[in-house]
Amino acid sequence: MANRVMDGIMGVCVADALGLPVEFLDRDVLESHPVQGMRGYGTFHQPAGTWSDDTSLTICLADSLLQGLDYFDVMNHFRKWMFQGEYTPFGTAFDIGNGTAKAIFHYDQGKDPLSCGGTTEGDNGNGSLMRILPLLFYVRSVFGKDWFGRDEAMTVIHNVSRLTHGHKRSWIACGLYLSVADLILEGNALAASIHNGLARAIEYYAACDGFKNSLCIYSRIQQESFAALPSGQIRSSGYVVDTLEAAVWCLLNSDSYSSCVLRAVNLGADTDTVAAVAGGLAGLYYGYESIPEEWLSVIARREYVEDICIRLNRVCSEEIRSVSLHV
Ligand SMILES: [Mg+2]
Repeated sequence: MANRVMDGIMGVCVADALGLPVEFLDRDVLESHPVQGMRGYGTFHQPAGTWSDDTSLTICLADSLLQGLDYFDVMNHFRKWMFQGEYTPFGTAFDIGNGTAKAIFHYDQGKDPLSCGGTTEGDNGNGSLMRILPLLFYVRSVFGKDWFGRDEAMTVIHNVSRLTHGHKRSWIACGLYLSVADLILEGNALAASIHNGLARAIEYYAACDGFKNSLCIYSRIQQESFAALPSGQIRSSGYVVDTLEAAVWCLLNSDSYSSCVLRAVNLGADTDTVAAVAGGLAGLYYGYESIPEEWLSVIARREYVEDICIRLNRVCSEEIRSVSLHV
């Protein structure tokens, strides 16, 4: 049976591992020595196939969703990752984003999960976007295939962002991303999924009083000419808008999983997360079989990550469940 969870999450994981050794390197350095496959060591001095926070937090969410959606439980998983090294390749959490760390500390001090994420304009790192993909399978299983645009489903997405990233710009990034991912999952062509996925999400937010003033920042990514921008105009920083733009640009300027994620890595800067965000959608579109086995074969704890994918796929393939929110 097709496992679309595996397509997406292993797309995130392999891309994360490709980008990690060169995280923070400048683009011009990578232009002269581009990443062409799995490398070991580098920035964090880890062996080839090591994945980082992007995958850890993604599988934390996926593992938590096996029991349904409970914001406390998701935060408990995040806490186990940061403090106890669970959901990591080798028992220690690393590459922890500032916004995510602050939110987990807030939770540890007793704050309500939905109040843990920073809410200022400066709190818009890519830390909720990079881990949001598993939620797609949950909302589809709970709300049905026509979940998009239903306020209850959209609120769930925003709340899962809020756990670590509470500014609406980050919520919208997650909404845009899952809208595109959903159309890919429905079997649409890649460019059409991106174009129509962004368009319908922008339309949803434009009709919401609380969101319409936050949309202008997302105007460039919707333009017809966006894909044709030269790479010099694409920023690959850890700012959520830059990361989403860079990921979409890579998807629109490549024709395979490999070419997409290598293009993302070689943009430099936040290499692992830009690649992970692009890789999740590329994995969903091109499929697990398109990920080179020579890359998959060195992924740390591959069976462990894939087992979480198998279990989430099984749970989310069951009949539509009644909505049970614990918060
Ligand atoms: Mg990372």
